[in-house]
Amino acid sequence: MNAQLSPDPMHLATTFLSAPHKLFINGEWVPARSGKTFDVINPATGQVIAKAAAGDAADIDLAVKAARKAFESGPWPSMPPSARAKLMWKLAEAFEANGDEVATIETLDNGMPFRVARFAAVNGVAECLRYFAGWAGKINGETPTIAAPNHHVYTLREPVGVVGAIVPWNFPLAMAVSKIAPALAVGCTVVLKPAELTPLSAVRLGQLIQEVGFPPGVVNIVTGFGDPAGKALVEHPDVDKISFTGSTVVGKSIVAGAAGNLKRVALELGGKSPVIVFPDADLERATDGAADGIFRNAGQVCVAGSRLYVHKKIFDKVVEGVVERAKKLKVGSGLEPDTQMGPLVSQKQLERVSGYIDSGKQQGAEVVVGGQRVEGKAGYFMQPTVLAETNRDMRVVREEIFGPVVCAMPIDDDDLDRIARIANDTDYGLSSNIWTRDISVAHKLAKKIRAGMVRINGGMGLDYALPFGGYKQSGWGRENGREGAEAYTEVKSITVAL
Ligand code: NDP
Repeated sequence: MNAQLSPDPMHLATTFLSAPHKLFINGEWVPARSGKTFDVINPATGQVIAKAAAGDAADIDLAVKAARKAFESGPWPSMPPSARAKLMWKLAEAFEANGDEVATIETLDNGMPFRVARFAAVNGVAECLRYFAGWAGKINGETPTIAAPNHHVYTLREPVGVVGAIVPWNFPLAMAVSKIAPALAVGCTVVLKPAELTPLSAVRLGQLIQEVGFPPGVVNIVTGFGDPAGKALVEHPDVDKISFTGSTVVGKSIVAGAAGNLKRVALELGGKSPVIVFPDADLERATDGAADGIFRNAGQVCVAGSRLYVHKKIFDKVVEGVVERAKKLKVGSGLEPDTQMGPLVSQKQLERVSGYIDSGKQQGAEVVVGGQRVEGKAGYFMQPTVLAETNRDMRVVREEIFGPVVCAMPIDDDDLDRIARIANDTDYGLSSNIWTRDISVAHKLAKKIRAGMVRINGGMGLDYALPFGGYKQSGWGRENGREGAEAYTEVKSITVAL
């Protein structure tokens, strides 16, 4: 794909940015009831590019009421599944028709390279909508055989109800749609709370939802802060399920906040994913994979391979390779066509990542490359960073940094149980990567690793047909695949005495 921007999408995006951004409730655009707004900043420049409505508990309440009405008496769950699927397909087409503009908005808001935004926020979003549209009408119950004679029994899978979707800023639109699409496919209605740092593509999503003709209240979008807006959604007694992606700390607070009405909770949280490279691996591919796995989207990726374990025989070669790639990476504004790594999302995230590097240094880590903010740029640019001389007791090895920082550590062992123990030595369990040509080693180790995903020799990271989610403190439940759609349903057992 040609990443060169024609002036047209930039003009469209600029026109969009300059318009007032409101809340999308019950099919209408309304200001926050408080009248408050907040600044939206372009992380590549540090400049304010727009103002978004600061929704709070009162707006969330209206949005939940609209979603409840669309669920109970509105047409959505009772519509023929094919009619729901048709609207989802229309929305996918609307994204594609406005693709360059949508990707430009995502780049301006989040900082990611335009090419990445086009891939994640347009192609990925369209793919997600079409994939889940395919499940509409196909998530059904069963007719189990039971022990008691003279009974006819069956189960129904029914939509769980009103879903609160709370999403982060690292892939704003892709995250939002990966929750909305399965929920809509099975007949749920939704209130979306995007991240305060990246609310703009969610507003554009609302416009496209309106344009393609979704009934009012089926999707409602309330921009605003985690507290009060997100918190109010989590605690709202008329919300049936919260689907959250973000930090483990907030995930835990959501579990507590959801207890009031025992709403269902799905959590896609952080990770500290291992990359394990064996001496027999294709080292060029493994090194490319290790570098891409931590520097993509400036490391602001939940599945980022942030712990690099390389067998001691090839440690120097692989680490030198990652360092070389880090040095060559073009860091810059996502709108420049040759940019490979954009800025971090905010000043706060830049300080957080820098703070981790400082803590690593204080605990004895060696900065092999990077480690500094990129000088001479106004935005929040961080150098791609490789740390060596790290160990399991350091914060940089234990905690999710969410930046372009990898900790390289040699493995001085050939025993798979011990290697698995090293890989599993983390509170997280989201993803993992194995590089070897020995299929026996690969599959044996894959079974021993406690993570929701194991990628062998660069295997697929995300596909909407594949369950996605984590073990341990990486979350609860799975997104995507059949599991991802079923997660928005309740099961009802019906028994008939014959
Ligand atoms: P958060 O977990 O704080 O934010 C994620 C979403 O939750 C945002 O929409 C946020 O709103 C909302 N939120 C915040 N507090 C509450 C609350 N009390 N109740 C309900 N919703 C709430 O992530 P951060 O933006 O603070 O990022 C911090 C760290 O989290 C990162 O450095 C990274 O380690 C991790 N993270 C992990 C992600 C992943 O994909 N697993 C994604 C993003 C972050 P608001 O934006 O207003 O705060």
